Amino acid sequence: MSEALDPKTAPTFPMAAHELLGDAQLRKNVRHATNVIQAKRKRVVEEMPDWQELRESGKQIRRHTMRHLDFYLEQFERNCTAAGGVVHWARDAEEARRIVVGLVKAQSATEVIKIKSMTTEEIQLNKALEAAGIHAYETDLAELIIQLGHDQPSHIVVPALHKNRSQIREIFMREMHLPELGEAPQDLADAARRFLREKFLRVKSAVSGANFLVAETGGVCIVESEGNGRMCLTLPETLIAVAGIDKVVPRFADLEVLLQVLPRSATGERMNPYNSIWTGVDPSDGPRAFHVVLMDNARTEILADEEARQTLHCIRCGACQNACPVYQQTGGHAYGSVYAGPIGAILTPQLQEMHHAQSLPYASSLCGACYEVCPVKINIPEVLIHLRNKVVKQETAGLRLLGNAEAMALKSVALIFRSERRFRAAQRLGRMTEWPLVRKDGQGEGWIGWLPGLLGGWTDVRDLREMPKQTFREWFEERARGTRDQRKTDIKGRRAADGH
Ligand code: SF4
Repeated sequence: MSEALDPKTAPTFPMAAHELLGDAQLRKNVRHATNVIQAKRKRVVEEMPDWQELRESGKQIRRHTMRHLDFYLEQFERNCTAAGGVVHWARDAEEARRIVVGLVKAQSATEVIKIKSMTTEEIQLNKALEAAGIHAYETDLAELIIQLGHDQPSHIVVPALHKNRSQIREIFMREMHLPELGEAPQDLADAARRFLREKFLRVKSAVSGANFLVAETGGVCIVESEGNGRMCLTLPETLIAVAGIDKVVPRFADLEVLLQVLPRSATGERMNPYNSIWTGVDPSDGPRAFHVVLMDNARTEILADEEARQTLHCIRCGACQNACPVYQQTGGHAYGSVYAGPIGAILTPQLQEMHHAQSLPYASSLCGACYEVCPVKINIPEVLIHLRNKVVKQETAGLRLLGNAEAMALKSVALIFRSERRFRAAQRLGRMTEWPLVRKDGQGEGWIGWLPGLLGGWTDVRDLREMPKQTFREWFEERARGTRDQRKTDIKGRRAADGH
């Protein structure tokens, strides 16, 4: 993971967004891709007469699971173990990394193939593997583009959504040493297939995430569109699945609901082309060793917060990202985390109590588009407001002075707004002040680019229009006065002409 996606070093959302808004190509790519996916989603959702009932069922399954998470996790462990799997428990990212590295090293392996997994991105697993002398090959096409381009994922489902075809062609030609390559999707897919096929056949260990863990059977469910996941699940000798504890579902039958809403919401498909459910080991087929790492990494703290708990209901479909007007403008990198968009704005601050993450609950207009498309009905705006409350409480507790200064500033503004006389005086004062008229991008005039003190929080990331020379009311009164005077003059003139 690059520093820009490391919550410890990433810039705050407003700072990163300000920079990314200047990248016209990136904005065009993101807007185009999200519009295409949204249109596909809309088509396949509208053909479902029971879509709202499915959403409600999804919500109930997830809510019930979270209420009894301890029970279902233990049930999963029992059933997975009985089927020949080995379950490991990891308290945090550090422990999860240590377990995976240890398991790969125990096979004396120096390479692993990987199925796209946001959980392994969350814990920066590739970096830890590299540090231990193990090279990880991403096998999902979009993840491969990101890896070869030394880039960062910007979307949960479509990590290379910010790249267009000609950019991907350049990356492939450079990194795969191809003298020629077409730009058609077929050409790019063929190049990736040739590059990956040899790895599938050679590498003996695989690392995956999990879309769902089925408690009733001990199975790990992985859905994907390219078949790379199926290759990783079946060909290697050792398979290691890393999953957050929130991925468990009680019954096999629950997949009936979740496997309908997930692909429709994620990629606008009626069904994922590849749905694999892996349960333990079988001497006649597949990996000889199967490990599941169940990772907490702050999830139990989220679980303990009743108002924020619904964050854990997420099935990582990415629909909220595509629908979000903020994400559509900034793309995913502005969120400083592998979890971008509305789900990132509520999940990252809870996973990482870092300074930068405190800006994420404000990275939303609270328009509610994310809530409307969420297939398990997570009320993201509600959680955002709850987190904003927490941020304010933390800041006022830690920085009492700043809290007081902010409270005083707001009281002064309220005082001004309550009286027309004071409001007009403030406007006059504003017009008399010599504002530093410098726009941050150096373009145009009449913009205030810097304000002192607390007001600087606004101009840190936005330019403000210069105070107008005249208020609308003054302009209107002047015009009305002028019209009145003109009318009087006209009447006088007519009377004089009539000899009165
Ligand atoms: S919050 Fe809802 S819409 Fe967003 S990724 Fe999670 S499940 Fe999908």
